[in-house]
Amino acid sequence: MVPGARLVVLGKQGAGKGTQCVRLSHHYVVPHVSTGDMLRAAVKQGTPLGMKARDIMDSGELLSDDLIMEMIAERLGERDVRDRGFILDGCPRTVHQAEALADILAPLDLDLVIDIEIQTGQVLRRLAARRVCADCGANYSVSSPPLINWTCDVCGGEVVQREDDKVEAIERRLQLYEVQTAPLIEWYEVRGQLARVAGTGSPDAVTRRIIKVIEDRRYKQTGMR
Ligand code: ADP
Repeated sequence: MVPGARLVVLGKQGAGKGTQCVRLSHHYVVPHVSTGDMLRAAVKQGTPLGMKARDIMDSGELLSDDLIMEMIAERLGERDVRDRGFILDGCPRTVHQAEALADILAPLDLDLVIDIEIQTGQVLRRLAARRVCADCGANYSVSSPPLINWTCDVCGGEVVQREDDKVEAIERRLQLYEVQTAPLIEWYEVRGQLARVAGTGSPDAVTRRIIKVIEDRRYKQTGMR
């Protein structure tokens, strides 16, 4: 059986984090835990959390650390995650969240934190062109649309531009990334938990790079491929 994995994936908006996390989740057969997807589902269902989250998300601001960590603690306590691990996408996003995550996981630790690196200029182009399925969250772009008339290939939902992929919200999200999330990279680096991977080139090329750093790390830790 493929061993499980306990990974965090970091990267600016548009670095390809969501795409790579789905692929890693299939490769290692572990749940993809995406705070963005969980929050969008809550908004859609109109839960109390969703009602609190909607306007904050649309404007590109962050939700409070406490709200996010409560949601994540609950998810990480579920059976599938306890059995196989997780690919964590969208959390932590502040140093405070990283500390809270370490407390939730203790006495266990993360296997590795992967930072997908990409330049801001490239990210702006990708985000402006990004389109997503309003129902299942599958990713498309203006240059790679669904097969039939903006109808999702996976679930038949409507493929749209995310409210927070519009210019003002993108600018705010990138600004918050620099202030709040970039310090995390250093935080994990000093703890020896970080691997940097170039986010340029095709999605397949990026996936290969990520799997290689994970396997190299495993080999170092366990002597096993
Ligand atoms: P992106 O990484 O492209 O900004 P996500 O889909 O991960 O998009 O998140 C969408 C929005 O959900 C964020 O802009 C923010 O409002 C909220 N959110 C998601 N994860 C977190 C988090 N860990 N802490 C605070 N807010 C979050």
